[in-house]
Amino acid sequence: MVTTHNLGFPRIGAKRELKFALEDYWKGLTTQAELSDCGAELRKRHWEIQADLDYVPIGDFSFYDQVLDTSFLLGNVPERVKSHGGTELDHYFRAARGRSASDSVCACVHAGEMTKWFDTNYHYIVPEFTAATEFALNASRLVDQIAQARRTGVHAKPVIIGPLTYLWLGKCKDGSDRLGLLPRLLPEYAKLFDALSLLGVDWVQIDEPILVTELDTAWQRAFATAYAALNTRKVKVLLATYFGQLGENLPVACSLPVQGLHLDAINAKDEIEAAIQLLPDDTILSVGVINGRNIWKTDLHATLGWLEPVHRRLADRLWIAPSCSLLHVPVDLTSERNLDREIKSWLAFAIQKLVELRLLAKALNNGRVSVQEELVANAAAIQSRAKSARVHNPEVTAAIATIDAALGRRAATYEDRAIRQSALLGLPPFPTTTIGSFPQTSEIRLARSQFRAGQLDEAAYRQTMKAEIARCVREQEALGLDVLVHGEPERNDMVEYFGEQLEGYAFSQFGWVQSYGSRCVKPPILFGDITRPRSMTVEWTQYAQSLTNKPMKGMLTGPVTILNWSFVRDDQPRSLTCYQLALAIRQEVLDLEQAGVRVIQIDEAALREGLPLRRAQWGAYLRWAIESFRIAANGVRDETQIHTHMCYSEFNDIIESIADMDADVITIETSRSDMELLDAFDHYNYPNEIGPGVYDIHSPNIPAQSQIVSLMRKAAQRIPAERLWINPDCGLKTRAWDEVIPALQNMVAAAKYMRQGLDASGAS
Ligand code: GLN
Ligand code: ZN
Repeated sequence: MVTTHNLGFPRIGAKRELKFALEDYWKGLTTQAELSDCGAELRKRHWEIQADLDYVPIGDFSFYDQVLDTSFLLGNVPERVKSHGGTELDHYFRAARGRSASDSVCACVHAGEMTKWFDTNYHYIVPEFTAATEFALNASRLVDQIAQARRTGVHAKPVIIGPLTYLWLGKCKDGSDRLGLLPRLLPEYAKLFDALSLLGVDWVQIDEPILVTELDTAWQRAFATAYAALNTRKVKVLLATYFGQLGENLPVACSLPVQGLHLDAINAKDEIEAAIQLLPDDTILSVGVINGRNIWKTDLHATLGWLEPVHRRLADRLWIAPSCSLLHVPVDLTSERNLDREIKSWLAFAIQKLVELRLLAKALNNGRVSVQEELVANAAAIQSRAKSARVHNPEVTAAIATIDAALGRRAATYEDRAIRQSALLGLPPFPTTTIGSFPQTSEIRLARSQFRAGQLDEAAYRQTMKAEIARCVREQEALGLDVLVHGEPERNDMVEYFGEQLEGYAFSQFGWVQSYGSRCVKPPILFGDITRPRSMTVEWTQYAQSLTNKPMKGMLTGPVTILNWSFVRDDQPRSLTCYQLALAIRQEVLDLEQAGVRVIQIDEAALREGLPLRRAQWGAYLRWAIESFRIAANGVRDETQIHTHMCYSEFNDIIESIADMDADVITIETSRSDMELLDAFDHYNYPNEIGPGVYDIHSPNIPAQSQIVSLMRKAAQRIPAERLWINPDCGLKTRAWDEVIPALQNMVAAAKYMRQGLDASGAS
């Protein structure tokens, strides 16, 4: 018999119950007991949904983040979060977000650093270490949850982040080597295993996803040491890997003294054969057969086609599961009322994915005939998607076929373009601009929600947006900025706004996925070939330009960012989907140019996060990602100035690719790092213009003129002054007008001051 299990379930709740419970608690509207009850209720509900699996994950629930939970489990809690007293939960929220419910503003501490969980859009709190870090197991949370799971009647399998992945995810604040902490960490895991065995736990899932990355020898070797030390214990260990192939780490993983290994068969199907060869005869192989990262139905026939032979060989040694935790997909498709029926029939969210898992298990255990009807229905859905005219558009195929190397290249070099652009735009040295959005006020949000609810008609809605645009233009003129923006009031989200206007996209109502803490995103669903039926931004930009003589910057989201922040199709390579998006954005760029817009910014906020987990694959990604940007941007005349924007500037490793985009101007985030992030430009002579951010828009603080001047001077040490722009780090939509105005006043004053410096030094 094949065994079924799950690696993790989304904890946020089908209606985002956890989000609202957390936010109420943080506002002081509810008690800790009420928050605990909500957690218990969600866990119970989620276990009941999974109850008929052979093993149900426990410990995957978290009030904020599973990595932070692990830090608390191992007693690695920063001293600063304990300083104002309170309960363990208060400490926890201080570590997560700088403040707990009972804390006053002045009692806040700095929150732990947050970063992306592998190549997902989930963010975890980075564990903090020093050479002196000591660990001390505190398993009470886990023990309580095991007891609760027992009461619910499920067969619980605790899920714990493994010791090496835990260390790898963290940072040593004092520059020491975190791997050196392993000997101090292992005894705590050993104690944990003892505690679990006393509770009668038979299997524990230990997640070591770093096994899908390129590890140096020291880390690779540490696996053998670590797991040899743990194997003395009485609990059976299922070592879980996901998100990729193990590659050179496969022999390492297969030789560890554990009782089971989980492979992500969506990414590493090719490694199953080798794993069967390498694993000892009594070791379980768990195969992740359902994609835990996308929202498409599984092709059950195709899966059974390769899984049945594996089952025949492994028999009882085969376990099946989703490829990774279902944390990365929405909870329940049946909540969706507005999704087109045909498209809905192609989809599966977390609950539906577990139904598929059970069907596969039944087909393996009792033969395909035992689930005949379900298989027929699944085949019909797969066929409908494969053949749908809404998915496949011959005109798009034809357009893709016309792409050649020339399409993404500008006619003139940057030097020649710069001369023409500067003649046309007449900008001063150190030109000032902003990144696009201005404050999204409550009036804007109200108008949008009323429009969506049908309480405000289209004409009135457009009027409201135009009034906002007029306000943004007025304010920017008064500030004396050089290149203006329309302010993006009409945009709910920089990807959703474009997705809604492109053919080939669908939108869920409740398809929320946790991004960090209580924050969720609802990625749009890219299901078919992409076309742009009509222009998407021209009307707003043209209106804004009509109000001023200063250049108005057109504002678009780039193809790579649209791709990386959507659920995309799995029936063609990501690169092809990206090229389709690039062609659609290119049309928009050309329409803007045609409408007289002389500066066009194409945001690629998510370019870097699409980098594959293995460096060996970076080159291939960067080739098509950069080419997609070039196709979108570079069809314009020499005089048209192309800007791009990125919300980071960790460019050291990809600076040549960034330069290859050939944007005339790039604006990046740098203010928080005191321009240290410009280090990349020390070693590489970036050829075009750069606007290093001088205003940290994530903070309510107003930067002083002197601070901005000192940042710009640092920038000028690395980049020639005539190629520098002055701008904030990112868009201003989350800030209030009374913060934005003084900050931008200081920014414009700083620019004037810098220009005087240029005059005085006689530089050009
Ligand atoms: N143009 C967008 C804005 O200003 C850019 C946002 C982003 O980079 N994340 O809001
Ligand atoms: Zn940004």
